[in-house]
Amino acid sequence: MCDNHAPIDKLVEGFKHFHREHFERKDPYYQALVREGQHPRVLFLACSDSRVDPAIVFGTEPGDLFIIRNVANIVPPYETNTGQHGVSAAIEYAVNVLEVEHIIINGHSQCGGIRALCERPADARIDSPSLVGRWLALARPAYERARADYPEADMDRLALECEKDSILASLDNLMTFPMVKARVEAGKLKLHGWHFDMARGVLQAWNPQSGRFEALSG
Ligand SMILES: [Zn+2]
Repeated sequence: MCDNHAPIDKLVEGFKHFHREHFERKDPYYQALVREGQHPRVLFLACSDSRVDPAIVFGTEPGDLFIIRNVANIVPPYETNTGQHGVSAAIEYAVNVLEVEHIIINGHSQCGGIRALCERPADARIDSPSLVGRWLALARPAYERARADYPEADMDRLALECEKDSILASLDNLMTFPMVKARVEAGKLKLHGWHFDMARGVLQAWNPQSGRFEALSG
């Protein structure tokens, strides 16, 4: 039998657990967050993929991470047109108001957005009828670079390399934000490119010195 309410019931049960742990016990840490506001030191940008929830994967507490999630964890370039840019607004707020000390772009293996880009690159264009297609157009140069660097790669390898190249493109795009560039150059902000391999359980970080992604754990 199909139970349409099961996912909603699970959320409500989850909230009851949260309520018991933080409100009924008058958790002092949580009370302080409510009273004093948030002071996260990290802006974390992850994919919307349901399997890569940063709070779960990285074991964080409320108040630890200011989080942006979108399809394929992409940072668009800084733009001054009249568009209403949700991702860019969150970056500006995290840097200017929260004064985060680190920005982490966290890509991941088996990313459906990057896979779609690699399988149907012609659909990733600014005039695509699909909103996802328009969004993935931002990662199209990363796909082109991965394909040029690994011309013999099968689809799995191509997608993996594209995931990583897209992280690097997002790091470059972060530096087009004047407030990011200024704080990085002042030594007040560090940028990180991470890749989480879900299948192998490995977390890698981009090392600009070696020009490679290297294991942080696993
Ligand atoms: Zn993804």
